[in-house]
Amino acid sequence: MEHQKRPSHFDIAVVGGGPAGRSAALVLARQGFSVALLAPDSDPADGRTTALWQKSIAVLKEIGVWDDLELKAAPLQKMRMIDDTGRLVRAPEVTFDSSELGLNEFGFNIRNSDLNEALSAACGNADTLTHFNARLETASFEQDHVSLNGDNGTEIRANLAVAADGRSSRLRDAAGIEVKRWSYPQVAVVLNLDHDRPHQNMSVEFHTPSGPFTLVALPGRSSSLVCVVTAEEAERLCGLDTSVLEMELERRAHSIFGKFRITTKPQSFPLSGLSAPKLVGKRLALVGETAHVFPPIGAQGLNLSQRDVGDLADVLAKAAASGKDFESDTILAAYETKRSADVRSRTFAVDALNRSLLTDFLPVQAARSAGMYLADKIGPFRRLLMREGIAPGTGFQLRS
Ligand SMILES: Cc1cc2nc3c(=O)[nH]c(=O)nc-3n(C[C@H](O)[C@H](O)[C@H](O)COP(=O)(O)OP(=O)(O)OC[C@H]3O[C@@H](n4cnc5c(N)ncnc54)[C@H](O)[C@@H]3O)c2cc1C
Repeated sequence: MEHQKRPSHFDIAVVGGGPAGRSAALVLARQGFSVALLAPDSDPADGRTTALWQKSIAVLKEIGVWDDLELKAAPLQKMRMIDDTGRLVRAPEVTFDSSELGLNEFGFNIRNSDLNEALSAACGNADTLTHFNARLETASFEQDHVSLNGDNGTEIRANLAVAADGRSSRLRDAAGIEVKRWSYPQVAVVLNLDHDRPHQNMSVEFHTPSGPFTLVALPGRSSSLVCVVTAEEAERLCGLDTSVLEMELERRAHSIFGKFRITTKPQSFPLSGLSAPKLVGKRLALVGETAHVFPPIGAQGLNLSQRDVGDLADVLAKAAASGKDFESDTILAAYETKRSADVRSRTFAVDALNRSLLTDFLPVQAARSAGMYLADKIGPFRRLLMREGIAPGTGFQLRS
């Protein structure tokens, strides 16, 4: 960490120290750029876990944090999706199996506290990365640099800024990029639990009329739970005595793993969506939730962000290696072109799936059921869905 009197100049300044921001800072520093990370320390109270697919794991390997994390993570080999809507038109159950794609596992489930701790430690040790423990207050985009001012008097200059300061990004606002926001009548209740029966490295997603109820494997006989319900129901669940809540959740899980014992305090996350009309500005690139937010279905959020990070590093490193100005409009446009389809299609698909659970409109339910029916019966279609949803790309190309 650095205390300074006059602004230092960096190739790239990353603003925001969530998993997307810290990963971006580390990958870019590893590519040889001088990087400033302007970010307050990460929140140790985040009790969530994150299922990360192959390409995100490749990013963590690239920045050297994966070996330690793997010991604390659970492999995810199967994903069961069960229609628990109780409606007239119900979809058949579908199981996605990583062996069908020739993979040992789709990815791993990791505690956010472990992930954030590993990324923070790596940021402290990276050679060309300087961490400024501050929040961004103001930013200005000048002709030949970006100027960033932190709330503790920190001043940084850089050729390019990367906005990773989350859904309420100040840096994105300073660049005048207006986003589209929407909300859902849903809250995710999140906790971890132990259970009697082994999960066999399987996650189970029940699709209920209020949203998904998802158990994701953790090491041992433990799983993390994301239970999406109405705001009133979330408040009721969080207010229950632990033993009553355990029974209620076991009932909702149809006792699939036997008895539940809750091991963490329930936390609630109101669900919302956000979409940025563009992923770049003058001397600016957006990654992670500064550009896209959607409900936690199918573990898409941070996986999409890690693909932003991988593609941004790839584009900038290739430009720098060939002697081009990596911060130029042309190079940033190449990043936007590379990311647009993935970001837009993911935001649309997750939103549509979530809304299809909430609606009573028969044709929509029928369409969702037909999709799951085809996934169950037709191998190539199922494998296409797996590749698109869970393992899009398994490589990670960067400047050699
Ligand atoms: C219940 C739930 C379960 C989820 N499960 C999964 C999953 O299994 N798999 C998956 O891929 N995704 C999952 N997601 C999505 C995932 O958690 C998010 O996509 C991810 O946390 C976003 O990371 P981020 O770094 O973009 O943003 P954030 O984590 O929001 O980080 C933004 C950072 O910016 C900092 N910041 C804010 N303002 C400033 C400022 N002015 N200056 C400097 N820094 C600032 C904040 O302190 C924060 O550290 C889940 C989400 C929810 C709600």
